[in-house]
Amino acid sequence: MNYNIAIDGPAGAGKSTVAKAIAKKKGFIYVDTGAMYRAMALYFLREGIAAGETDKIEAACEKADISIDYADGVQIVLLNGENVNGLIRTEQVGNMASSSSVNPKVREKLVALQQKLAAEKSVVMDGRDICTKVLTDAAVKIYLTADTKVRAKRRYDELVEKGENCDIAAIEKDIQERDHRDMTRAVSPLVRAEDAVLVDSSNMPVEEVVRTILSISDKKSGE
Ligand code: C5P
Repeated sequence: MNYNIAIDGPAGAGKSTVAKAIAKKKGFIYVDTGAMYRAMALYFLREGIAAGETDKIEAACEKADISIDYADGVQIVLLNGENVNGLIRTEQVGNMASSSSVNPKVREKLVALQQKLAAEKSVVMDGRDICTKVLTDAAVKIYLTADTKVRAKRRYDELVEKGENCDIAAIEKDIQERDHRDMTRAVSPLVRAEDAVLVDSSNMPVEEVVRTILSISDKKSGE
């Protein structure tokens, strides 16, 4: 069986940066599941579908083919064959992803793809339901979180670096709303799995978070 590392946590906790670094160190594949929900959301937005239009979302699910490729270790999300990596990192797509991911049909489709990837190769996979639903038998389970204000500041810095015009108070409000939706939805809400180790990155630089998770992984391997 593959050795898989599962990382869940709220938006802006540093999951993708940390997961990428761990995958590189271990020589594993990094699977960013949020990018898959974002690609589906992009499809819904392009079709002019609103978050609450369940029937339309379910019908559109059949037509949106999501697949994953890798170029120099970087995950590429393909939406009906188109590389959409450069189009899915906006607040609009993030909010649509958070709203449309409550739909069981959307989840069913993407969870199947995620499980297939983890069955083929050892992965570091991050998301909201990886420990609790997607990879329940992962060798290492982490719940990575950080204070809301710290997460908002990180998102703000990321967006500013990309040249986007943004307001930190609006980002914090968005994060709170997204957390609330992700944590209270009926299907696969974001919760810490009982067997997941809690890591709070509020006052930790990335390297320290990476070291902490690698040492948790080493301990597990030695058990
Ligand atoms: O992690 P990221 O911000 O890219 O995820 C976008 C949205 O996709 C999240 O707010 C969440 O609602 C959804 N998501 C999910 N399950 C996952 C990964 C992401 O529901 N495993």
